[in-house]
Amino acid sequence: MAPRMVVIGRNARQLGEDEDHNLTHEEVRILWSFVHGDIMNPGVRAQLYGNWGLCERHSWAYAVVEIELWESGAGARGGHQPFDVSVLYADLLARMRAEIGRAHRRHGQLRAITRSGTCVVCADIASDEPGEMAVTHAGMDLEKLTAEANRMTYTKAWLDDTMRYWRPQVCPMCRREPGPDGDAQLCRMHLERLLDQRAIEGELLAGYLGGLERRLRQLTDSMTEGGQPSSPEADASWVSTLAWFNNWTFPLRMTGGRESEADPSPSL
Ligand SMILES: [Zn+2]
Ligand SMILES: [Zn+2]
Repeated sequence: MAPRMVVIGRNARQLGEDEDHNLTHEEVRILWSFVHGDIMNPGVRAQLYGNWGLCERHSWAYAVVEIELWESGAGARGGHQPFDVSVLYADLLARMRAEIGRAHRRHGQLRAITRSGTCVVCADIASDEPGEMAVTHAGMDLEKLTAEANRMTYTKAWLDDTMRYWRPQVCPMCRREPGPDGDAQLCRMHLERLLDQRAIEGELLAGYLGGLERRLRQLTDSMTEGGQPSSPEADASWVSTLAWFNNWTFPLRMTGGRESEADPSPSL
């Protein structure tokens, strides 16, 4: 089994809209550079594939920085939309689906879904690279960008507007309250725990991930020049996708739903 990385220090904090959970200048600087193209660097891509994306905090932070700070773009909204993050995670969904399809028995399934390596943003923060810069990649004031990102105005609107469509899929173990289980799906984090005990039905999981990928690609298409319009289900798909790879704490907290504070997400 791949070694599990224990995340310690400030980056283990979950993201939220209050001061205790805020993004730091450094996190915004790195993620803003990410949105401006660092993500296409082949070395970074390889790390993202190995680790199944960014850590929990920085997956959501990536979406927040893009949604809050990117003010113009293609498609009906023209900006404040999770485009780059959705392109990355659609790619990860396709890879995960293929891995699950190839996996045999419990150990293979566990290996397929477990992260290996580290989050590139956490690694960047921990590195000895030159410290915080006052001016960012695109020459904007970091203080201002950080304050704007932490308001999470547009992110909250996305989460509220799409809740009806993602809520039925919330992982029952993240939800920690009774509710209909029809469309609910264990997140990757909780599947890891289940796979410590027993194998799962790989085809069912691959089918769920395939549905997410299809809707997520519909969403990214709607954000490109001349793309087809999105649908409410597609609009919700980036939330379900980031939540599947991490857990549901962030969208539940941001929409006033019950969050899993008693089970802080933890040693992945
Ligand atoms: Zn991280
Ligand atoms: Zn879960």
